[in-house]
Amino acid sequence: MRVSVGILCEGCKRVHFISPSRKSGHVLYDRVRREFRLTCHPPCGQVTSFQRGMLKPYSVSAGALERGYADVAECRPMAEIERQC
Ligand SMILES: [Zn+2]
Repeated sequence: MRVSVGILCEGCKRVHFISPSRKSGHVLYDRVRREFRLTCHPPCGQVTSFQRGMLKPYSVSAGALERGYADVAECRPMAEIERQC
């Protein structure tokens, strides 16, 4: 299992991972509004605006990370495993 930060799409309940090493085309930073915008994959297509602080670390399989997203049931928020400061 790997750890990556991600954001949940409320439309389809998939967690999209933000990779710092690889540009994910569906996450854009809006400089004017100072927020990130995630455009979900079709057929969902929901647009989610979020701040950096809303990203949560998830424990997730390497395969899901490679894919860039995972069903919310496939990954576990790290906060539920242990909380570290
Ligand atoms: Zn979605």
